[in-house]
Amino acid sequence: MTMPCKLHRSDLVGCVGVDIGGQSTRIGTVLPNRTLKLISFCTQPDFDVQIDMLVDKIKLLGVDEIRRVGIGSPGPLDWKKTFVYDTPNLPWRNVSFKKLERKLGVEVLLDNDANVAGLGEATLGAGRGKRIVAGFTLGTGIGYFHIIDGHIYHGSLDVEAGHQILDPNGPECNCGQRGCLEAFVSATGIQRRYGVPPHELEDQGAWDDIALRLAQGLVNIALHTSAEVLVLCGGMLARGEMLLKPTRIYYEQMLQVYPKRYRPPVVTAKLGDRAGVYGAIVLAHVGHSGRA
Ligand SMILES: [Zn+2]
Repeated sequence: MTMPCKLHRSDLVGCVGVDIGGQSTRIGTVLPNRTLKLISFCTQPDFDVQIDMLVDKIKLLGVDEIRRVGIGSPGPLDWKKTFVYDTPNLPWRNVSFKKLERKLGVEVLLDNDANVAGLGEATLGAGRGKRIVAGFTLGTGIGYFHIIDGHIYHGSLDVEAGHQILDPNGPECNCGQRGCLEAFVSATGIQRRYGVPPHELEDQGAWDDIALRLAQGLVNIALHTSAEVLVLCGGMLARGEMLLKPTRIYYEQMLQVYPKRYRPPVVTAKLGDRAGVYGAIVLAHVGHSGRA
């Protein structure tokens, strides 16, 4: 199914989105008056309690007839089985959301948090109106997303462009490789290399180095996806032009294959910390495509 490039909020009525983070879980729905109704609670250490809380809070949203529920969660996960593997970012180990499906009596769709935030931005935020949108979420790790015609592209396993290798002799990454984009640009990587978290790093020279690596990553995904727009999301955008200005300069300097006017622009997220919950609502609406 090819989705229209412009999704309207009124299309989303009846869909419920769940954005699960290590600290808090947010659920939301778009009301008939097109506003977002949002409820948050602390992510529960016991998965059975988490499921019961989700059921209770989803009922509190007051949706007349729930069409589907979409969930964004830290991975690794198997979206086809709605199964989340052992992840350092959540208190649970190897859990399935089939239980939520049974309790609610509606279909539940799961995907990783970067894909879901990217889907939100691609359809309702910075990529709205574009058919092919790719980008990164810049946080503790580096998430990647590639959205085609309003659907998440997965590949045969899952695309891991945050772990593209930029320097085989570079710093060690949590994934076991060396010199990944994530090792240079993530909050974890910055803390390791510069001894301070990104919000305390004031050295523009250091930010220029980080921006060069981020620009390499952006050039590579521009070349691999030929996206119409590249979107940057995540908490590190709070550093603003310290990161973004040199990133755009390096990106323009490096990316020469496409004539200037055809290069995908690098833009920043528009939905802020609501991208995840909006993306989960959109996932509930559009479902997973047959495009793997
Ligand atoms: Zn890596």
